[in-house]
Amino acid sequence: MPVTRLSGVGPKQAEKLLRLKIKTVQDCLFHLPLRYQDRTRLVAIGDLQVGIEAVCIGQVQTTEVMYRGRRSMVCHISDSTGELRLRFFHFNQSQTAALREGQRIRCFGEIRRGSRCLEIVHPEYQLLGATEVPEVEERLTPIYPITEGLHQLSMRRIADRSIALLREYAVDELLPDAQTYCSLQEALETVHQPGAQVSAQALLEGTHPAVQRLALEELVAHRLSVQRGRVVFQQFTAPAIGGQGDLLKRLLGQLPFSPTGAQQRVIGEIARDLAQSKPMLRLIQGDVGSGKTLVAAAAAALAVDSGYQVSIMAPTEILAEQHLLNFSQWFEPLGVRIAWLKGKLGARQRREALESIASGDCAIAVGTHALFQKEVTFARLGLTIVDEQHRFGVDQRLSLREKGVRGEVVPHQLTMTATPIPRTLSMTAYADLDCSIIDELPPGRQPINTVAISTNRRAEIIERVGAVVASGQQVYWVCTLIEESEVLQARAAEEALQELRDWLPDVSIGLVHGRMSADEKDAAMQQFKEQAVSLLVATTVIEVGVDVPNASLIIIENAERLGLSQLHQLRGRVGRGSVASHCVLLFEAGLSQRARERIAIMRETTDGFQIAEKDLQLRGAGELLGTRQTGSLQFRIADIMRDKTLLDRAGDISDELISGPAQTVDALIDRWLGGDAPEYGNV
Ligand code: ADP
Ligand code: MG
Repeated sequence: MPVTRLSGVGPKQAEKLLRLKIKTVQDCLFHLPLRYQDRTRLVAIGDLQVGIEAVCIGQVQTTEVMYRGRRSMVCHISDSTGELRLRFFHFNQSQTAALREGQRIRCFGEIRRGSRCLEIVHPEYQLLGATEVPEVEERLTPIYPITEGLHQLSMRRIADRSIALLREYAVDELLPDAQTYCSLQEALETVHQPGAQVSAQALLEGTHPAVQRLALEELVAHRLSVQRGRVVFQQFTAPAIGGQGDLLKRLLGQLPFSPTGAQQRVIGEIARDLAQSKPMLRLIQGDVGSGKTLVAAAAAALAVDSGYQVSIMAPTEILAEQHLLNFSQWFEPLGVRIAWLKGKLGARQRREALESIASGDCAIAVGTHALFQKEVTFARLGLTIVDEQHRFGVDQRLSLREKGVRGEVVPHQLTMTATPIPRTLSMTAYADLDCSIIDELPPGRQPINTVAISTNRRAEIIERVGAVVASGQQVYWVCTLIEESEVLQARAAEEALQELRDWLPDVSIGLVHGRMSADEKDAAMQQFKEQAVSLLVATTVIEVGVDVPNASLIIIENAERLGLSQLHQLRGRVGRGSVASHCVLLFEAGLSQRARERIAIMRETTDGFQIAEKDLQLRGAGELLGTRQTGSLQFRIADIMRDKTLLDRAGDISDELISGPAQTVDALIDRWLGGDAPEYGNV
C-alpha cells in the first residue's frame, strides 16, 4: 500500500516522506523511533535527575526578566519536595504576566544542572487551575527521525495511522518459527506506541523483547542481502583449476624458508576452491607479518600452471611495488612473465603492459587501481587477488571481477586483509565470503615491546633512536595528525625531519609522505629497504604491508589520535626480523581516560583480533572497515555490539532462508534495506 493510502497523507506529504525513503505503509511501520519521551508520570521535583526528560507540577514562586548577558525570563517553581528553575530566552509580556506568583503549572523538558538548583531551558508548559487534575499521556512518546518540513507531530500521526492499518491488515511474518518470538505485529505496536507499563529504558537499551525481535529480523535481512550477492555470483562458472601443482612445488622449493602450518592450511583451502568450476570467493585474514604474500603467490602459481592469468592488486603504489618485487623474485626464475601497471607510467611502458596483458604474454599482472581501468583486458584471467581489500570500494572490486567475464565465465576471487574482522562484523558484512585465517606467525619472530611515553621525554627518545641506528638497525618515525589533510601531515613530517636532523647529524634520514610523487615515495622507501637510510620519517602512508625486517623500532607521534587497528598496523612495521623490536607511542600529557584505556590495550596485547574487537566497541563499524564499505551497515534498530547474543540465531535463520524461496529473501531485504541493498554484496 502506498503512503497516500493513509488519511491525511497527500502527494506533498508523500514527497517529503520519500526523502526518508518511505514509499509504502510498510516503510512507515519500519521507520522506527530514535528514542522516547516519558510524559506518562508526574515526577516530584525532589526526584528529578539531570539528563532525563520529565513532567512535573509546581507553583510559581517568582518570575523575573533578567538582562544579564542575554535577556531571559527566569521562573522559579516549587512543590513540597523541592525547587526548579525554568529559563526562557524567547518570551513575551503576556507569558511573564501569566506566570505570576502562586500560579500552578505543569511543565516538561530535559532537566539540567543549574547554578543553584536544577533547571529546564524552554520547557513545554501549561497553566493549571488551582484544583485542576493534570492529564498525563497514556503512552511513551516516540521521537522519530524526521526531515525538513515534516514535523515530529505529523510523523507521529503517520505512524499512528500506519499502526491502525496494521491492526486491520496484519503484516507478513517472514521469519521461520515465528511463534517462538514475540509477534511482529506486537513488536511494531510496542515500539511505536509503547504503553505506560513499558520501560522506556528497556526500549532504549534494546533489552525489551520487542526491540530484540526487530533487531533479529534486521540482522537477518542484512546478512541475507550480502548472501544474495554470493548466490548471484556463484551462478557464474569459473575455470576449474586442477593440475598437479608442479609450479607451486618449484616455487616453494626455491624459498629460503618453508611455509608455516597456517600458510599450508590456507593454501590447501584455496586449492580446493580453485579446483571447482564455481567461482571462489575467499577472504584471507592474517595479522600483519603473517605471510599473506606467499599464500597469494601460491594461489597464483596454481592458476598460472593451468594456463590462466592472475591479477594482483594493492591499494597503494608502495604496496603494489612490494608485490612486484616479491613476485618477480619468486616467479621470474621459473620462467613466468609479470606485467606491471600503475597510474603514472610512461606511454610506451603502459602500452607494452596493456599489450602483454591482452595477448596473454604475461601470466601475472601486478598493479594498483590502474588495473581497474577499462583499457585493461585480459586474455584469460582465471584469478584476481586483491590485497588489503578494505581499502577498496565495493564498486572497484566489482569492476575487477567483471574484467574476467566472458559470457558466463568469471575469475576466482581472493581477497586479503590484515585488519582482522571481528566475528561480530563478519557475520553480516562478510557473509558472502569464505574465510581463511592465518593464525600463526613465521617462526623466530620476537614479540614487540610497546611503551607509552609522554612528549615531555622527546629528547630521551631521540637519543634512543640514535643508539638503535648505531647498532645497525633501522627506525620508523611516524607523524600523525587528526586531520586527514595530506598537506598538514606532510608539514608535520617535514618539521620532524628537520628536528631529527638537528639532533642526529650523523644519521641518514629519509622522508615519505602523501604529498610526494609516487616516484619520490618509491625512491625513499627503496632507500630504506636497501638500508641506505637508517631512519625513515613518514606519515601514515606506510601503514599497510611495508616489509623491512631490519627495522626494529617505531615511534608513533600523537598515538592517542589514531584508531587501535591503525596503531596495530603501524606497529606491525617492526618485529619482522629476528631482533627484539620496540614500539613507542608518544602522546601529549594530560590524556583523557578513554585515550589512556586505548593505549593500555595496545600495550597489553599484540593480538590483532582482540584489538579489532576493542576498536569496534570504542569506535563502531564504520571506522573499522572504512566508510566506503559500511553503507550496508547502517542499522535502524540493531546494534552489533549490543545485540551480539542475537548473531548466532540471525546467522542460522538467514542460512536457512537463503536456500529457500527467493520471495521471502527479497521481501525481507526490501522491508529493511529497500533501495539501499547492495546488488552484489561484497562480490
Ligand atoms: P603480510 O601478511 O603482513 O602481508 P608478508 O607476506 O609481507 O606479511 O610477510 C612478512 C615477512 O615474512 C616477509 O619478509 C616474508 O618473506 C616472511 N615470511 C613469510 N612466510 C614466511 C615463513 N613461512 N617463514 C619465514 N618467513 C616468512
Ligand atoms: Mg601484506
